[in-house]
Amino acid sequence: MIFFPDFYVRYVTGFRGSRKLKVGEFSFTKNKECANKTYWSCARAGMDKCKARVLTYTLKNGEENLVVRYPTHNHGPF
Ligand SMILES: [Zn+2]
Repeated sequence: MIFFPDFYVRYVTGFRGSRKLKVGEFSFTKNKECANKTYWSCARAGMDKCKARVLTYTLKNGEENLVVRYPTHNHGPF
């Protein structure tokens, strides 16, 4: 569980066991994993060509952090 200013962030398990990330009212799907970082793109990146992106990373003490790389969605909550 990650707490991020303004947003409540949580993991959800989607269709066929895929892991999704919810940031506030928006869903993100996993893009790629690289070492301790996971890149997520908006679940509507394909449908709406939404460019919103976040990155999560795990610190050595196990604490998870979230970085918003591109905050703007071009659609309503999904
Ligand atoms: Zn979006």
